[in-house]
Amino acid sequence: MSPSTILGYAARAAGQPLEPFTYEPPALGEHDVRVSITHCGVCHTDIHAVDDYYGITTYPFVPGHEIVGYVSAVGREASGLKEGDRVGIGWQGRSCGQCEWCLKGEEQLCMDIVQAATWLPYGGFSSSVIVDSRFAYPLPDAMPSEFASALMCAGITVYSPLRSFAAAPSRKIGIIGVGGLGHLALQFARALGYEVTAISSSPEKKEQALAFGAHHFVVSDQASLSELEFTFDLLLCTASGKIDWVPLLDTLKKDCKLILVGFPDVEFNSTDLVAHQLSITTSFLGNRARMREMLSFAHAQAITPAIELMPMSQVNEALQKVRENKARYRIVLVNETEGTRT
Ligand SMILES: [Zn+2]
Ligand SMILES: [Zn+2]
Repeated sequence: MSPSTILGYAARAAGQPLEPFTYEPPALGEHDVRVSITHCGVCHTDIHAVDDYYGITTYPFVPGHEIVGYVSAVGREASGLKEGDRVGIGWQGRSCGQCEWCLKGEEQLCMDIVQAATWLPYGGFSSSVIVDSRFAYPLPDAMPSEFASALMCAGITVYSPLRSFAAAPSRKIGIIGVGGLGHLALQFARALGYEVTAISSSPEKKEQALAFGAHHFVVSDQASLSELEFTFDLLLCTASGKIDWVPLLDTLKKDCKLILVGFPDVEFNSTDLVAHQLSITTSFLGNRARMREMLSFAHAQAITPAIELMPMSQVNEALQKVRENKARYRIVLVNETEGTRT
């Protein structure tokens, strides 16, 4: 094993537990940086990819895309970063740079997005990762690495649509789900000036939802939601799995929007949408400018992810907790190899 050998945790086949996996670092492209990983958050998308839910996973597969670490090597043409800089990296680690979306600065919509994933060839549950330097973001000095880690995917995922659709202050928003994404959405929405209602199937989350910034809390049962008919200007759904949509849609004012950022099961009767002229829209990651803006906004507004730290060697226990919805609210894996800076 050479000194540059990378130690990661890989699934060998769909749905399998991760196993230690070593590999030689891929060649450093001229715009690339190599980053020695100290922290990596666990996202539902990692589990979907391990399970090949999207039908695009190649094995052995090393998940992980909420990365914080230190730059350990810099490609010839990479500018703006130097060895030793602390950076964050999210789901997107590169882009084609040539399609209409990349040329417009909307790289998250790159036509080659599948190839743009940070986890190709291998992701952040690992000692190092190589990405295009333009997708490695310098972090505010005082921001704890575990906070930055959770912001790199969960943070940008909720911040971007809240920013895009924010308009007049005191717009009423309902945030569906108080979990890894939802607990950050409550904080960002409050800081952006919305009147925020947390909507959760778990009544025991009320106190925490209010502490995260919600003005109001409602349990997502039919009786409670029926009291909120025509209340919200915007609904942001951060939950996944099965959802009873009809009473939720009835809480939207006419001609307003539901935004999906997670991957819930959707089943709508078109009448429920058309008769109130409702729109459903979605949001995927954010462009590079939005990513930098999100980090500085989070820092200025003291957005505080609720983090459970676990050693990276316990990656399978961490994934299991996320599968069972038991993470409170984001698990961040800490690399025991920190300090060796491979
Ligand atoms: Zn993610
Ligand atoms: Zn592109």
